[in-house]
Amino acid sequence: MTGLAASWVSGAAAFEAAMVPGGICSSYYQRPGSTELAVRDPEDGSAYHFENGGGHWIFGIDALTRRFLARFSPLETHQRVSAVYFPEAQRFVSYPLQYHLGELEPSLARQAFEEMRRGAESPLPSTLGGWLERTFGPTLNGLFFRPFHDLYTAGLTDAIAPQDGFKTPVDLKQAERGLESASEAAGYNISFLHPSRGLAHMACAMAEGGCVMYGKRAVSADLTGQTVEFGDGSGTRFERVVSTLPLDRTLELCGLELDCAPDPYTSVIVLNLGGVKGPKHPPHHWLYVPRSKSGFHRVGIYSNVSRDFVPGRSVERTSMYIERALPGGSRLPKEDEAAWAESVIEELKAWGWLAGAEAWSATWIDTAYTWRRPGSGWREEALELLERRGVVMAGRYACWKFQGIAESIRDGFIAGAAIK
Ligand SMILES: Cc1cc2nc3c(=O)[nH]c(=O)nc-3n(C[C@H](O)[C@H](O)[C@H](O)COP(=O)(O)OP(=O)(O)OC[C@H]3O[C@@H](n4cnc5c(N)ncnc54)[C@H](O)[C@@H]3O)c2cc1C
Repeated sequence: MTGLAASWVSGAAAFEAAMVPGGICSSYYQRPGSTELAVRDPEDGSAYHFENGGGHWIFGIDALTRRFLARFSPLETHQRVSAVYFPEAQRFVSYPLQYHLGELEPSLARQAFEEMRRGAESPLPSTLGGWLERTFGPTLNGLFFRPFHDLYTAGLTDAIAPQDGFKTPVDLKQAERGLESASEAAGYNISFLHPSRGLAHMACAMAEGGCVMYGKRAVSADLTGQTVEFGDGSGTRFERVVSTLPLDRTLELCGLELDCAPDPYTSVIVLNLGGVKGPKHPPHHWLYVPRSKSGFHRVGIYSNVSRDFVPGRSVERTSMYIERALPGGSRLPKEDEAAWAESVIEELKAWGWLAGAEAWSATWIDTAYTWRRPGSGWREEALELLERRGVVMAGRYACWKFQGIAESIRDGFIAGAAIK
């Protein structure tokens, strides 16, 4: 999305490794009972609609980016319906947990709140693990935050700095109100947009307004000679260049090295799953899971956002995405993907969310979540070096920061304008 926006604004060529635009925001279609994945929606609407990177809902959008996106598709607004799910107790607690303590056992809720209050008086720790313990106290941390973050970061909780505080708001007054009554919505994604024609349609429309070359995987760049080589043996000269590839990958591609080690990241496997709803199918858009036998940490339900995600818009069917994090750069061997998918399906059936699976497929996001080691200056040094060498870095992965689609598009516009 960042590269498409940069190309749209500058008119410069965008070189895309894949054969379709959109990166992890693109879609594909899969019929029940089939393992074939199609780029286009069959006309009879008989396929599940899945997304490459799992459900992508547009949050945190500003008025101008919204106006830009609205030219491609009507935008539906949804109010987030999200919860934490405790499988052992088969219990849902509204998200964010810290503001819905009244949904827990009263004595446990009161104890958790008192611990949060005490924690707020102690100094800020340097690791995410320490920050979670201090902020939420042993009760809530043990119940949810610690095990959830161990899964979500693939074991990095004590190795990385606390970050993106805005994603986990902590207002003690609101937490106290939540002890007694339903708390007001909080967090960075209270509401979100979904383009009614789908995100992939939007990516294709953006690509048409730019100049995109497909099947061009950059494999090396010579910043002195101002050339880029692609995996298909071709190459191009450039005067100015924007990279939307992950920061560590861009350094490597350009043959640049820093004295310090790169900050860590997490890879994610997304299981896209379509089937018949179980008797306890949840009504939520997505759910955070602190413990699961199959190691996943989040389950999203596409079809609770739009029925367009299931064949025939059937109300009996469900379409889900299940996310599991792995240490950065690692993947499950191909032959283990099927066994993992089977174990997820069995687990979701045991929870009553799914009666039977009709289609599944797995996709990988190699660089999904980016982190910082406490006190690390790697990101700033890397960005500065690339800037000095004339490479404009734009987007979530290039700038190694948390960012949604809307902000990535905005970054792309600025980068495109900067090189025009
Ligand atoms: C699990 C997960 C869930 C998310 N959910 C949401 C959400 O609900 N809402 C939201 O707003 N944001 C969400 N995001 C963030 C969102 O995905 C990013 O903000 C957005 O994808 C960034 O776009 P980008 O173009 O910068 O990067 P990417 O989408 O990674 O695009 C990079 C492009 O470069 C191409 N490419 C890769 N290597 C090469 C190469 N060597 N040569 C040429 N091309 C190459 C890729 O094919 C891709 O098209 C989520 C992210 C993750 C990981």
